Amino acid sequence: MTSPLRVIYDLHSHTTASDGLLTPRELVVRAQAMGVTVLVITDHDTVDGLEPAREAIAALRLPLNLVAGVEISTLWQHHEIHIVGLGMAPSHPALTTLLASQRAHRLARAQAIAERLVKAGIHDPWHGARQLAQDDLVTRGHFARYLVSLGVASNVSNVFKKYLSRGKTGYVPPQWCTIEEAIEAIHLAGGQAVVAHPGRYQLSAKWLKRLLAQFTAAGGDAMEVAQCQQSPQERSQLAGYARDYHLLASQGSDFHQPCAWIELGRKLWLPGGIEPVWRDWPVLPAAHPPATAEG
Ligand code: AMP
Ligand code: MN
Ligand code: MN
Ligand code: MN
Repeated sequence: MTSPLRVIYDLHSHTTASDGLLTPRELVVRAQAMGVTVLVITDHDTVDGLEPAREAIAALRLPLNLVAGVEISTLWQHHEIHIVGLGMAPSHPALTTLLASQRAHRLARAQAIAERLVKAGIHDPWHGARQLAQDDLVTRGHFARYLVSLGVASNVSNVFKKYLSRGKTGYVPPQWCTIEEAIEAIHLAGGQAVVAHPGRYQLSAKWLKRLLAQFTAAGGDAMEVAQCQQSPQERSQLAGYARDYHLLASQGSDFHQPCAWIELGRKLWLPGGIEPVWRDWPVLPAAHPPATAEG
């Protein structure tokens, strides 16, 4: 008798291609070990982690389905709203053009952040953050880790509170694209557009509803409803919004690094009465059988 197949979708995760700590190969190995069946890598403004992840899955014959993804930073009413793209063609010119422009803004912003941190007395923040980013895309997360390594704050969250959040000494207003531009690029590339972690923007219910109404009006497809670190109340409230605004529901860990409270695939399930974003996805391809001792 075969055991019933439990399919676990984790549709939001990061690698060293942006501000994750695991390489694409390490991430897919961990996802499979955690029982994830369908994984989406959603690095900030880059798709560079996808190909190495695919190669690792094939080389290791992992029973894991990888779907292409990205997390695009947008600016809406002075808030930084993250829009996840699912299932896009990573090399579509509309997408690569937008992401290149986002990364140019990211570079300029990181340099401006470094200048401000120097004025705040931090030693060589540019090289510190660049080194942690392995000379690749630099996010505020890299600055935060560097400042923790210097001992100026006890953890990343405190660095944000003290230096990097809006209004703080190292904060530089970003020049991200609009929500509409992100949706358009994702759609042209054949993907679905999803509002990431709607509970994390510190928006009042009134403003969150405005955001979801505008996102729906702009043709957005889905919103994240389930995350692993979330109260049951928040999950059911977000499910209610998905119904009210006719959005499909997504779920994901937003995994960045191994830690005690966030894990790939953990606690990811959707409340009843909402439609999953994977509703119309093709049937899962047969996963690679695990390699045998004989090879
Ligand atoms: P950026 O895209 O450069 O603005 O950097 C944003 C990234 O920093 C997010 O994706 C998170 O990984 C991290 N981040 C943002 N806010 C916080 C926070 N309050 N505590 C810890 N990490 C944060
Ligand atoms: Mn991040
Ligand atoms: Mn995000
Ligand atoms: Mn994320």
